[in-house]
Amino acid sequence: MSGRRKISRREFVAGMATTAAAACLPGAMALPAFAQQGRGPQERVEFKAVPFALENVRLLDSPFLEGAKANQKYLLSLPVDRLVHNFRVTAKLPSSAEPLGGWESPTVELRGHFAGGHYLSACALGYASTGDAAFKEKGDAVVAELAKCQEALGNGYLSAFPEDFFDRLSAGRPVWAPFYTLHKIMAGNIDMYTYCHNEQALKVAEGMARWMGHWTIGISDAQMQRILRTEYGGTNEALYNLAAITGNWRYFETARKFEKPSFFDPLAGHRDELKGLHVNTHIPQVIGAARMYELSGEPYYHEVASYFWDEVTSERAYATGGTSNGEDWDTDPGNLKGALSLWSEECCCGYNMLKLTRHLYQWTADPRYFDYYERTLFNSRLGTQDSQGLKMYYLPLETGFWKYFNSEYNSFWCCTGTGAEEFAKFGDSIYFHNANDAFVNLFIASEAQWPEKGITLRQETRFPEEQGTTITVKVKQPVAAGIGVRIPSWVADGGSASLNGKALPTFASGGSYLEIRRTWADGDKIEVKLPMRLHAKPLLGDPTQLAAMYGPIVLAGRLGTEGLTKEMQYDVDHGNTELAPPHARPVGSSEINVKSAADAQSLAWLEPVAGQALTFRTVGQKDAATLIPLHRIIGERYGVYWKVNSEHAEQG
Ligand SMILES: [Zn+2]
Repeated sequence: MSGRRKISRREFVAGMATTAAAACLPGAMALPAFAQQGRGPQERVEFKAVPFALENVRLLDSPFLEGAKANQKYLLSLPVDRLVHNFRVTAKLPSSAEPLGGWESPTVELRGHFAGGHYLSACALGYASTGDAAFKEKGDAVVAELAKCQEALGNGYLSAFPEDFFDRLSAGRPVWAPFYTLHKIMAGNIDMYTYCHNEQALKVAEGMARWMGHWTIGISDAQMQRILRTEYGGTNEALYNLAAITGNWRYFETARKFEKPSFFDPLAGHRDELKGLHVNTHIPQVIGAARMYELSGEPYYHEVASYFWDEVTSERAYATGGTSNGEDWDTDPGNLKGALSLWSEECCCGYNMLKLTRHLYQWTADPRYFDYYERTLFNSRLGTQDSQGLKMYYLPLETGFWKYFNSEYNSFWCCTGTGAEEFAKFGDSIYFHNANDAFVNLFIASEAQWPEKGITLRQETRFPEEQGTTITVKVKQPVAAGIGVRIPSWVADGGSASLNGKALPTFASGGSYLEIRRTWADGDKIEVKLPMRLHAKPLLGDPTQLAAMYGPIVLAGRLGTEGLTKEMQYDVDHGNTELAPPHARPVGSSEINVKSAADAQSLAWLEPVAGQALTFRTVGQKDAATLIPLHRIIGERYGVYWKVNSEHAEQG
């Protein structure tokens, strides 16, 4: 893409020099020069916009609030004694609780990732999102039990599996992903400190960080790089966060050991060498690079994060915004031909790409980052939970499959964990601000307080069923400020805005902000119309397959319920976890016959169904199909990509 900022050679060399210098010192990395200034680690880059604090945003009625409530109900249903059982057993403390199953069962090597990690993050986020003390109490209770286990173990180590897993890791013997699991537990405790002000959780996280620092002493750089071939999640990111919270450079030094130059260097040099990599292993490492950029200002890390984001979102993402097939990137850039399957799009990847997007947005306040965020949130995240709060692992994109959800107590996939967090924090990216301006980035019914200005924004919308939004300003006394409403890149002709019922003379083009600066009075009302239109999104590298979109929404063909029993849609609840439906066999097709490729692209083969929002039907086809938003489809087979048959044109 021509718009990418290329790094200058001088910047690149400066970044590399820091890495190279550090790499010369096994076991005791040199701190960067800026660390000698007598201050603790803190943000060194200017944020152009920061999110409204989660505790200042409340969702109003919408599918997001419904989803959040189902998730909350599920979180509160999990008993603390079952969650902490494996931790207590590992610490040789008594526990008579019935163990959880799936990836939390006593014999699975990832145990603890959800119970002592994602679960704490989700409770902390749930508390911040709702103010409901039940989440804080639940999280506090788990933290208190984990602290007892850590104390019993005596050296800062905390996990639901024994420390000798790390001996296997350092010896190169098979073991699943021990640092990945510790990352989740550390992040969960950091979140409990950040959102629930739980000081004990901060102590637990610091104990774990000290243990990690100690463990890595004496491990050579070469051996550490071998160790880092095993998935380690966002260990670097969690340690950078802890360093910034505590002002302690030791955690920063430890974080730098969890960095893979073999992965980062090509990205900093703007080379896509992602083919063959396991996707969800790598996105969190880049989030760590983004955090490192924020704490260091080193251009190298900026390039790693921004080039990676550009490449994944433009060259490796589906129409839905999701990425990965069979958990890997197994194709060249810009080519997803053959990458539609039952195993397309691991849900964790969408979650982590949204997390990365928030960082990049904060550095730039560029609304185009929210074109991607919105597309991924609505198409890859919103529809991946059922009404009981159960989550999906893969979002199948091969025609004829369906959505498959975890069981209540016997799955606990990675995506159960990231999903529990996602559905606990929908309020975190709707509104951002800087010193003077607030930015409305997502159209989700909600109310947000901006305490620095004494302004409350109330957004009422049924988006995407409604093509626009209304924002009412509440103030105790008149306040001067700017409000920027994101005008998405997908907006069709005819967009408009009004203030207190009077049309504004100008609008903004797609991919920018409509900015209104004035002294706001109580009750001022901004109404924005954002007309949508149908548009085609061809599969990268294969113009004979395309997805139909309406505004940011991916439409999917409804293909019926043949053979879909409950057990085909839910992981079994008796211990054996499966990632995909048993005996999964696609039924139905999504094909269109048109005269030419141009006809296919124009979507003239679709027409709206009168009286039903976001509902379309194929026209001029042998078998008519109905399309509705992918996020609304649960319990039936679907087709996202349409195979284009344009034989007439080719023969003629
Ligand atoms: Zn996952």
